[in-house]
Formats: sequence, C-alpha cells, structure tokens
Amino acid sequence: MTMTNIALTDSYVGGRWVVGEQERHPVVNPATGQVLAEVSVSAIGQCIAAVDTAYEAFPRWSETPPRVRSEILRHTYELMIAESEKLAELIVLENGKILDDARSEVAYAAEFFRWFAEEAVRVRGDMRRSPAGHNWIMVFHEPIGVSLLVTPWNFPAAMATRKIAPALAAGCTVVLKPAMETPLTALALADILERAGLPPGVVNVVTPTPAGPAVAAMLRDSRVRALSFTGSTEVGRLLLAGAANNVLKCSMELGGNAPFLVFDDADLDAAVDGFMLAKMRNGGAACTAANRILVQRGIADDFIERIVDRMAALRVGPGLDPATTVGPMVSRGEQRRVSELVGKTIEGGAETYRTAFDDTDEGFFYPPTVLAGVDAGAGVLKEEIFGPVAPVISFETVEDGVRIANDTDAGLVAYLYTKDLERGLAVSRRLQVGMVGLNRGLVSDPAAPFGGVKVSGLGREGANEGILEFLEAKYIATPFS
Ligand code: NAD
Repeated sequence: MTMTNIALTDSYVGGRWVVGEQERHPVVNPATGQVLAEVSVSAIGQCIAAVDTAYEAFPRWSETPPRVRSEILRHTYELMIAESEKLAELIVLENGKILDDARSEVAYAAEFFRWFAEEAVRVRGDMRRSPAGHNWIMVFHEPIGVSLLVTPWNFPAAMATRKIAPALAAGCTVVLKPAMETPLTALALADILERAGLPPGVVNVVTPTPAGPAVAAMLRDSRVRALSFTGSTEVGRLLLAGAANNVLKCSMELGGNAPFLVFDDADLDAAVDGFMLAKMRNGGAACTAANRILVQRGIADDFIERIVDRMAALRVGPGLDPATTVGPMVSRGEQRRVSELVGKTIEGGAETYRTAFDDTDEGFFYPPTVLAGVDAGAGVLKEEIFGPVAPVISFETVEDGVRIANDTDAGLVAYLYTKDLERGLAVSRRLQVGMVGLNRGLVSDPAAPFGGVKVSGLGREGANEGILEFLEAKYIATPFS
C-alpha cells in the first residue's frame, strides 16, 4: 500500500494550514471504529477569515487570463491522476467504500478539473441588434464572486471537485466546508491545488463543527455571493432560507428517491447488471442510488430470484481488502438508521433476503438486503435508504409503473429497462426527474448536466451548465452604429 496523506489535518485558509482554537475533531475509520486522525475545528471567526481571504483573492483571480486558470485546472487533474491510488486509499479509510469504488470516484472527481479546464476558455457572450433597431445588446458573463461550497461525506472528492472546478474556471474564489465525517480528502485536494500552482486565497477549506452556526455566519456575510450545496433536502431547505437574506445565487444538489423500473420486455441480464450498479455502487450511499425497485408483474419472480443471487454473492468487509465488494456504512448512526428502516419494513410483512456476513462490534457493517412484497405505503419507499437495501414492488401496466415512479417529492434520477426504444423514450419523458438512465444503471458524467427537479434541487453541475452556476450575465446597451 502507498502512504496515505493523513498528515493534513488542519484547515486551509489563505494558502496556509491553520490550527483550530478548540478541541480537535476525531475522524473515524468506519471499517474498524477506530480514530484515524484528529482534525482542527475551525472557529466561526476562522471561517469568516476564510471569507476575507477569498474576497481579497477574487479581483486578481477573476482578472487572471482564462488560459492561465485553465492550465492550473489541467495541472490539478494531472496531479490527481498521478496520485490517484493514494487519494483512493484515503477515501476508503475515512468513508469506508471499497477500493474499486474509491478509484472510480477519484477518476470521476479528477475529470471535473479536466472538463472545466476546457470550459474555462469557452465562456461565450452574445451580441445582437435590438429588435427596434436603435441599439446593440451586448451580453457578457462575469464571475459571481466569493462562493461558499458545502459538501456531503458520500463522495468526499467528487462532490468537492464538481463545485471547485467550475467555480475556478468561471473566475470565482471559494470557501469549501466538507462533511466532518470525511474532511481529510478535501484537505488533500487543497494541497494538490496548491502544488498545481493555485494562488493563495482562491480555494480555502474550513472545518467547523457543528456546521450550522459557522455556515449561517458565512451566509450572513454580504461578501459571499453564491452558495453551492450538496446534501440532504432537509439541510438544503435550511440553507436556502439562510441564503435568502443576502439573495445569494443557489445551486442545490439534494436527496433522491430513484425508481428503477423493469418492464416485462426488458433484457433481464442487462437489467440485473444495471440494478447492481444503480443500487450497490458506493454500498448504496449515493443520491442516485436505486431506492424503489419497480418490476412488472410478469417477470417479477424471475427478477427477484436473480437479484437475490447476485446480492448473496457479495462480500461484506473492510474496503481495503481486495476480496470485499461491500464496505461498511460511514458511521454507527447510519448503520442504526438503515437497520431500523429495514426492521419496520419487515414488521410490515416484507419477505427478506440478507447476505450472510460475520457481524462484529468493530466497524459499521450492514448486509446487502432484498425486501420483496413491500407494502405500497411502507416508509422505506418514501425515505432515501442510502444503504445496501433494495425494496421491490411489482406493478401491472406501464401506466401504473409511471404513476408509482412519480409518486414522490424527490426527482433526481430514474432508471428504466425495456427493449422497446419508443416506450423507453415516452416513459423517460413522463418521469418527473432531472436525469434518466435508459437501459443504463449509471448516469454520472462530468460532460452531462447533473441535477434534479422537485425537492431534489436547483441548478445543474457538470457539462456547460456547471460553469453557468458561477457566472452572471451582464448586458450593455449602446447605440447601434
Ligand atoms: P447532510 O445534509 O447531513 O450534510 C451535508 C453537508 O451539510 C455537510 O457538510 C454537513 O456538515 C452540512 N450541514 C449539516 N447540517 C447543517 C446545517 N444545519 N447548516 C449548515 N450545514 C450543515 O448530508 P450528508 O448526510 O452528508 O449526505 C447525504 C445526503 O446528501 C443525502 O440526502 C444525499 O442524497 C445527498 N446527496 C445529494 C447529491 C446530489 O448531487 N443530488 C449527491 C450526493 C449526496
């Protein structure tokens, strides 16, 4: 194993590593329950100092030629790829996911720097003659200013780079507040950005806990002009309210409740493979995870039998063990929450298939579980499971399938399997979501607009849309000549 970078445990402000003023915060390895590192806790004043430095760095960074900014982003991508094994191991240690998932995450996370290095030099404006003919309408895109980025623990690298890369490409400076379950990866990213040549103050990483008061103080600071949040819908609502006072531009990537629809004409082998990816990537802890498995009646028994076999073949264990295919949950709290949710579903009469594993008191493991014959009103169909649990319900007609799929406040992603392309496109259009996997169990791609509708969020990350979240249009009217 290569050396992991646990040395970086202080916050990063103005290009310097800053020790907190309070007792340090323990980061726990979910595979062992042991403390992995102790991270500085940023005081509220230190978070505001990060806003100071981001604000001071903004004029120069926003005026830096796009090509220069682009090359720093490109260099960051190259360093991440060169150091990907070390980063992947760090992600496994603090998050628990298996090494293969962590490697995929690093590749995905790095790709945002490459993609936005390319977007940085392609920000376009527009020039038109006004319809009445009297003046020119000139439109520019300007960086919005200091941006506050708040990220969750489930993809400690990718959720940060999906925000940092477009913000820097646009010319913004940022303060990142990572989840305190997984702050080490964010601190390692700050170090990589510094080595890639990023000037001090452009990216700052603060580590306050509890998060609420520090984030609220930064939102009250009128120098912060944008908020980009990824996390639960519950916290997203609170932050939207906090952002209202200074009327911040907000991007919100919130919770999902993805339906995974299998129609009776589907290629079942492909559907089962797609299910394993959509459900089990990251041990089920993904906002895009298939949460409700909806199978048309005629193939339901066959499909359930196949997924039970595939789930039973998984191996639960520490993420760094090459034989492991499902790692632990991130925390004891998450393990208990999922266990209670499953318990209630079983009380409601669901048939349960659980993968065998050696339970120990160390580590926060939970076995892959299929719940068949789940009652339509069960809580497990309404809540985001965020774990290796697959509730299955069957439906009769295409109409029923669409109705059940849309019967949720969330609207991030849906998956559907059918060999009939016309049906696939018609159903995709009617699903109330921001993204659809049509005969595919994975939608995430830095070149595609990622985001949800309904309570799953506002705005899009990745693609060309991602940089627009950090830009504002300015229009100049001048006489036509
Ligand atoms: P969370 O909402 O609890 O925390 C997210 C971040 O917000 C963390 O940094 C946390 O410290 C901070 N936070 C928590 N309470 C806060 C408060 N009162 N004020 C300010 N900040 C606060 O989410 P989580 O448990 O870390 O992550 C899981 C959630 O994230 C799931 O709901 C998942 O669907 C969602 N998620 C969404 C996407 C997406 O792109 N739509 C991607 C990944 C995760």
